[in-house]
Amino acid sequence: MLVYAVHEGGRYVRVEDSLKEQPQGKRGIYVNITNRCNCSCSFCLRTMKHMAEESSLWLKKEPTAEEVKAELDKLPWDIVKEIVFCGFGEPTMRLEVLLELMAYVKKIHPEIPTRLNTNGLSDLLYGRDTAKDFQGLLDTISISLNASNAQRYLELTHAQYGLPSFDAMLKFAVDCKKYVPHVVLTVVEKVENQAEIDLCQKLCDERGLKLRVRVYEDS
Ligand code: SF4
Repeated sequence: MLVYAVHEGGRYVRVEDSLKEQPQGKRGIYVNITNRCNCSCSFCLRTMKHMAEESSLWLKKEPTAEEVKAELDKLPWDIVKEIVFCGFGEPTMRLEVLLELMAYVKKIHPEIPTRLNTNGLSDLLYGRDTAKDFQGLLDTISISLNASNAQRYLELTHAQYGLPSFDAMLKFAVDCKKYVPHVVLTVVEKVENQAEIDLCQKLCDERGLKLRVRVYEDS
């Protein structure tokens, strides 16, 4: 499933089925372009076998930009509240395709807000500063903070780049403030205790970043 809605209980639903269940009202529409990721988070839905086997978010092959555009063209845009690049993997693993699709959405529907959910490790993946790439293409970037320090972050995410991943992710988040109107860092409720969440809040406050505590299985 390349393009989908999320219904109550974190259910991933085809847009046609979403409309049958809920004919009225605007909703977020999610775009899934890859199942690859440079992390292996302990709480990742992809790693939960029963979800993974059942989920139609597993892609048989990665779609081309043209294939995703064709799906976007079919959307009933009057019900779209926001386009979210998210899915069952890390979207920046396919940065070029991702940027092309963001530009396409902004071209055909500039009035619709766009959001990227990312682990924020694209600087390490590409060996350069990547925040500027999103200038003019994104309204919101939601970056997984996950933890208040590098050691805990690595324990949770098993990020491919090791301990430097945490600081690189934070630098990327701060850089994004120059190019993306809303920069939100997230931590997953239940994965972290309140003391750890308080430390995450302090870390965000010090950098002028907003923290959102995500409910588990939220998108
Ligand atoms: S960064 Fe996201 S997609 Fe990647 S392993 Fe972690 S939760 Fe899963």
